[in-house]
Amino acid sequence: MICAYCGKEAKGTKEHIISCAILDLFPECYITFDDARDKIHLGDPMVKDVCAGCNNNKISYIDSYAKGLIGKYFTKKYDEDDKLEIEYDYTMVQKMLLKYAFNDMRSRKDDCSFFDKEILHYLMDVCDEIPKENITVLCGLAVNVSPAPDAIFGNLKLRWCKNPLFYSNSTIRHINYETGAIILNEDVEKEDFPDLKFSYLFRFNSVQFLLMCWDKNSEKIDQNNIVLDCQYPYHLMKPNENKAVLPLCTDELNYHKFEHIHVRWDGLFEVGLMRKYASGGSYIYKEHIEKEWQEEEKKISEEHPRK
Ligand SMILES: [Zn+2]
Repeated sequence: MICAYCGKEAKGTKEHIISCAILDLFPECYITFDDARDKIHLGDPMVKDVCAGCNNNKISYIDSYAKGLIGKYFTKKYDEDDKLEIEYDYTMVQKMLLKYAFNDMRSRKDDCSFFDKEILHYLMDVCDEIPKENITVLCGLAVNVSPAPDAIFGNLKLRWCKNPLFYSNSTIRHINYETGAIILNEDVEKEDFPDLKFSYLFRFNSVQFLLMCWDKNSEKIDQNNIVLDCQYPYHLMKPNENKAVLPLCTDELNYHKFEHIHVRWDGLFEVGLMRKYASGGSYIYKEHIEKEWQEEEKKISEEHPRK
């Protein structure tokens, strides 16, 4: 086997697509739903093309950072009114998401030419701390604002997908506040970003990250970043900042239909509010079910300890 990182011939070791340390934080999520292969299994999502030297010595610092960040802020759920400010290291967040995307792309046998010598060096060298300008990262708070409890759709706290669908306009054309009727925007188009090589959406329980990887020679990156910043309910992370307040990035539809990135002004935010007010301001049955589910989750965690 040729090691995906150092390029040397060596025996392959198992590399978790998402750090094992993060999976350890969520023992209740013990089933893998592998849409790419249309399989459901009990094992962790893995690739096996990294040599022991790279796996254990070169890239493991990224996993340690990831565990710290996710463990500190995102093992709990938040409400839509919560204000969460996080402290982070921009370079490390870039590296963490890049590593997971790279793992996932290799596991799907996708074209990995984006991960050239420069990017691999960036990942393998803890001292290579200059963030990449052709990579954009956004973050937002994932809150279930819908009337449907999380567990209805499976225990999907950890999710990721390649090339999520970015909308260019609201999915709702009109809301009739008298009757509650909603007219959908049938011809809403997909937003196309020039010089985008690929993108990824990650959810780690209560946070979502968007990773955008641009052509290195692109002159459209600044323009794309402006569109991303203005058009979507995410915070655009910047190299010179180390703190961010996470905006609510989910509405009642895309909290569950995760691959859909709705615009900031999507009427669904309004529909969600309208529905909630019509239900007296809270979803009491959902809250009741969620409380019960938390108890159930505790049991599941105990029944499925991680190593
Ligand atoms: Zn190696």
